[in-house]
Amino acid sequence: MNIILFGPPGAGKGTQAKLLQDKYSIPHLSTGNIFRSAIKNKTPLGVKVKSILDSGQLVPDETVVDLVADELTKDKYKDGYILDGFPRTVPQAEAFDAFLEKNNDALDAFILLSVPEEELIKRILSRGEDRSDDTEEKVKTRLQVYRDETEPVKNYYDQQGKVQEIDGLGSIEEIFERITSALSVHKTV
Ligand code: ADP
Repeated sequence: MNIILFGPPGAGKGTQAKLLQDKYSIPHLSTGNIFRSAIKNKTPLGVKVKSILDSGQLVPDETVVDLVADELTKDKYKDGYILDGFPRTVPQAEAFDAFLEKNNDALDAFILLSVPEEELIKRILSRGEDRSDDTEEKVKTRLQVYRDETEPVKNYYDQQGKVQEIDGLGSIEEIFERITSALSVHKTV
């Protein structure tokens, strides 16, 4: 079961991905978490992407695609995975499709978590995660980048008839219930 959890910054992807990971016993892969951990550990990747994350812009497609393709070949992903934060541009989505095809695999579900913009800003500024990109100015940049570069990814998967839109307003449990009932239509779950 391969799932993409998609939505703007602050939509709750990370929170829901963790719950899904426990329910379906498939690992959660967050590109943002990989980058933050690389930055914390000052690895070559971390050094390369630090200023990009701090600015709220996107890491170059090639870097992200190579990273994800590498990660997904690890044994722990063999029964499926939940992608959070990837693909974030149309070229990344195309590269991911090529990766799936090459591995004789397919995407099972694309879950879009919808949350109005005012609510996103409120959530991010109050979540207290101590992220250097969680300031009001950087959040506005990230939302702009989402609109310009990431939202077209939804249209890309719409053309494949894969998008399931979930209302991202409500309690964590309510939203989780909506996602799992959307996923239950897929035979592989
Ligand atoms: P959020 O969804 O709250 O913005 P993430 O943790 O998903 O947070 O991403 C944080 C930052 O990591 C992004 O602003 C971007 O700089 C970088 N990043 C994460 N995933 C990608 C990706 N697929 N492509 C490019 N940059 C990425």
